[in-house]
Amino acid sequence: MEDVIIIGGGVCGCSLLYELSRTKGKFLLIEKENDIACGTTKANSAIVHAGYDPEPDTAMARFNVEGNRLIEQLCSDLDVLYKKTGSLVVGFDSEDRKRIEQLFENGKKNGVPGLRIIESKELFNLEPNLNREAVCALYAPSAGIIAPWELASAQAECAVLGGARVELDCEVRSIKKNGNGFTVTTSKGDYEGLFVINAAGVNSDLVSAMIEQKRWSITPKSGEYFILDTTESGLVNTVVFPCPSKLGKGVLIAPTIHGNIIVGPDSKDFKRDDFSTTSAGLEYVKKNAIRYVPSINFRASIRNFSGLRADAGLKDFIVGESEEIPGFFNIAGIKSPGLTSAPSIAKEIARQLHKRGLSGESNPDFKTKRKIKRFKYMSAKEKYEAIKENPLYGTIVCRCETITEGEIADTMARPLPPRSLDALKRRCSAGMGRCQSGFCGPRALSLISKYLNIKLENIPKDRNGMYIITGETKGGVQ
Ligand SMILES: Cc1cc2nc3c(=O)[nH]c(=O)nc-3n(C[C@H](O)[C@H](O)[C@H](O)COP(=O)(O)OP(=O)(O)OC[C@H]3O[C@@H](n4cnc5c(N)ncnc54)[C@H](O)[C@@H]3O)c2cc1C
Repeated sequence: MEDVIIIGGGVCGCSLLYELSRTKGKFLLIEKENDIACGTTKANSAIVHAGYDPEPDTAMARFNVEGNRLIEQLCSDLDVLYKKTGSLVVGFDSEDRKRIEQLFENGKKNGVPGLRIIESKELFNLEPNLNREAVCALYAPSAGIIAPWELASAQAECAVLGGARVELDCEVRSIKKNGNGFTVTTSKGDYEGLFVINAAGVNSDLVSAMIEQKRWSITPKSGEYFILDTTESGLVNTVVFPCPSKLGKGVLIAPTIHGNIIVGPDSKDFKRDDFSTTSAGLEYVKKNAIRYVPSINFRASIRNFSGLRADAGLKDFIVGESEEIPGFFNIAGIKSPGLTSAPSIAKEIARQLHKRGLSGESNPDFKTKRKIKRFKYMSAKEKYEAIKENPLYGTIVCRCETITEGEIADTMARPLPPRSLDALKRRCSAGMGRCQSGFCGPRALSLISKYLNIKLENIPKDRNGMYIITGETKGGVQ
């Protein structure tokens, strides 16, 4: 019997697994895909929001502002790529200024640190490429950028090293009350747990309906993006937003943690599990972004992608124990700023579970520190030392991002090793750059095959079934 079963391996599920692992207990995370962080957590704007958007006195506002603070510490402890860039909401006229003043008041009530309204001179100093018609902006110095999938996987890795378990390729199909606990039936069999947490992202309504009366449902809302090459780095230095509308925060332009520029998203109702991009969606993104930064070079686009917001149509997140089914908890309807809020939501659920009787005894095997070797960011001396210690650091596999075989070997030796090309990209950035695995893909595939001892034709690009190699030609694949 598990103490806690978490359904869903996105940033919310992984943050909770990490938080629970601080204390002794049997914790299991169940994920239907072949890797963690491959739902909404892998496809979003990757912004650590400051917290002026959510309505004051909502749980969302509290989670956002606390999450922003926690993430900075977590990223430092777990060596996750993160940078505090600050963000701007840019205004062009008196209507925008009114909206910006409202956001400023919201932010003050929510406890956002350092928030202020700046005028055009300071604005253009911060962002020289902004449209010169801009008149003012809300400046939030506490906003930042992050690798969201790394935040999830780093926490899951630490939890697993501390004794927690993660079951991948394991889809939850039903949940039944069973005495004091629950039986969770999955594609891999039954699991029993005292408490069950639903963190199933866009499927959280389906998972809730397995055991609760249906009170809310998720309308997935797609958001599409451009990623521009690192040649465009410096186009903006902060996260640049337009004034928000009823559709959401609008099309942003921001640096990514890997030195690219991200532009998007739009917002429209979409099908569950459909991550396709559309020409209409991308056109919308282009048209709106050019209004703010007219010199954006969309010809430098290296990738488009889309992500799905888990929109429950409510003002707030659904976080806490079910009133109807004691012992069953929801972390649901986690649209933006869910990435920023995840560590704070995890603390809240852990607090509630401890109140409900979960042991608070600390786990001696749990380590809150992690150190990752990143060749690209090493000094010449550090590079020399790394190669001397492990000659695999002398072989570059991904030339765009300067990722060495040594980093891939280390990645493979950590808990939850990647079993697809994109999972490798999410763990150590191999394939994240300009060629998007075009050149290093075959080498990366053969390294996954070598380190995990699986056949090349059994390694998908991302989700199961997306195979790249179908079989041997002319005497075998090496
Ligand atoms: C376009 C867009 C932009 C965004 N930008 C930002 C941003 O800049 N900053 C920010 O803070 N937030 C942002 N967000 C929100 C943020 O990305 C999400 O709130 C967050 O990633 C949600 O994490 P999650 O763990 O709840 O869901 P997910 O990451 O979707 O994880 C849920 C997991 O559950 C699994 N699952 C589903 N059903 C089952 C089942 N039956 N059995 C087992 N497993 C199952 C899924 O496979 C998935 O891995 C954005 C969202 C979108 C879509």
